[in-house]
Amino acid sequence: MTARRMLLLGPPGAGKGTQAERLGKSLGIPQISTGDMLRAAVQAGTPIGRQAQAFMDRGELVPDAVVIGVAEERLSQPDARRGFILDGFPRTAAQASALDAMLEKLGVSLERCIAIHVDADQLVQRLLKRAAIEGRTDDNEETIRNRMRVYREQTQPLVDHYRARGVLRELDGVGTVDEVAARIEAALA
Ligand code: AMP
Repeated sequence: MTARRMLLLGPPGAGKGTQAERLGKSLGIPQISTGDMLRAAVQAGTPIGRQAQAFMDRGELVPDAVVIGVAEERLSQPDARRGFILDGFPRTAAQASALDAMLEKLGVSLERCIAIHVDADQLVQRLLKRAAIEGRTDDNEETIRNRMRVYREQTQPLVDHYRARGVLRELDGVGTVDEVAARIEAALA
């Protein structure tokens, strides 16, 4: 049986978004990216967008309360009942606890946490390339360095949280999109 309730954990530039989108399409379940939702809110000029923008531009985390609200609303929608791929959430211990509580309320459990590893030099190269292609305002070198530090300090410790639950699978994120996708599929089996 392939897992259908999962999260992808990895530093910025590890390929979470690309893999989550592809996997979501192939499994017919939504990719839930808090980064995409926050960017849409900034673009639309909503109150959440206005709260989030300055943090995002600096490469810092948007406050837990804001992000938890966004994630909970999305996870509660009907299309997430059949499964979901969380991409970029949770990123802090408080968000991981909130996710546990949300899922309990929904009566479901997380089946997999896929941790994608890529070394720091490769990540910076990938992010600078993405900056040139997509023009994301948070893909400049200083912000990139900040996002990596934030990941190391606040998000990486979540690996232990999911290891302790027995749902963690770790894999190498270096390779072609197809190669990494095949590793993820194997880890979901
Ligand atoms: P991403 O597209 O996932 O790299 O997210 C881009 C930016 O959105 C991050 O650098 C944060 O400022 C913000 N963000 C996205 N997801 C979260 C989260 N779970 N917690 C806090 N901030 C987030």
